[in-house]
Amino acid sequence: MTTPSSMLPGIDKHHTDRRRYPHGVAFMDGQYLPMSEAKISVLDWGLLHSDATYDTVHVWNGRFFRMDLHINRFFSGMERLRMTIPYNREKLISILSDCVALSGHKSAYVEMICTRGSSPTFSRDPRQAENQLIAFAIPFGSVANKEQLERGLHVAISDTIRIPPQSVDPTIKNYHWLDLVKGLFDAYDKGAETALIVDTNGNLAEGPGFNVFIVKRGALKTPEFGVLPGITRRTVIELCAELGFSVDAADVSPRELRAADEVFITSTAGGIMPVTNVDGAPVACGQVGSVTRRLMDLYWQKHEDPAWSTAVVYP
Ligand code: PLP
Repeated sequence: MTTPSSMLPGIDKHHTDRRRYPHGVAFMDGQYLPMSEAKISVLDWGLLHSDATYDTVHVWNGRFFRMDLHINRFFSGMERLRMTIPYNREKLISILSDCVALSGHKSAYVEMICTRGSSPTFSRDPRQAENQLIAFAIPFGSVANKEQLERGLHVAISDTIRIPPQSVDPTIKNYHWLDLVKGLFDAYDKGAETALIVDTNGNLAEGPGFNVFIVKRGALKTPEFGVLPGITRRTVIELCAELGFSVDAADVSPRELRAADEVFITSTAGGIMPVTNVDGAPVACGQVGSVTRRLMDLYWQKHEDPAWSTAVVYP
């Protein structure tokens, strides 16, 4: 007789190919697991409807950067989506810390996710779903690679419109990324490395996993409408106050971006990353600018400052 497993050659008893997973540790269903074993149900609304919120914090040289701000944003997102988890802030911080410590990574990308989950009766009523917390720590990852960080990214502006804030509140960090992914493919088609997409008024919004800043005559500007208020973006605004640069959160048109002296993008995944080419044309003289460099230097220095970072306790 044909058994179900013999009908599916290639499926071994572990059901996973460990080589396809980065080395890391996850927490779900109350236990710590190797990354390759952290799985969600295909019936989870997080997968079926992108009904989830999440946050990403990074660890650099054994220290979390701005953990409190990430935890605040995560709890605020869950509250507004009417989700709850059976852990308070302190317990969640200790779970994240354990994931990093168990992974052994000194520089890590650490994600906390709350999905709507599914209901035991498969009800279509989201109130009956059991919300689920998943956390994990994997090696630190960046939007820009080493070469791109040195010479600046090449970006294309896509005419794809970012999902309007009236439809999905961008201040709740979410996985509604089809517009951003379309922007990325548009950018690759134009020979660029990443994308910026526009808001409903045609001004710049953000890119796949990052905010954007322009520098003109020493003053900075970053889009405000329809974007995730990134924690790196906020950090840059605070660093500008320290360095005496003026910064404005306001509309930025594609024309202003093309005429800027300097452009950079910001994300927990990579920090402050220079952009030196937009739509095939160099930004100013096509070199990483001095304001961007000063901000990048101070940003990484702050990773050792106990006011901005917290040590992971490794065993
Ligand atoms: N915008 C979007 C859509 C993002 O997904 C992210 C991060 O993932 C950012 C901006 C940058 O936010 P942060 O600086 O908090 O990482």
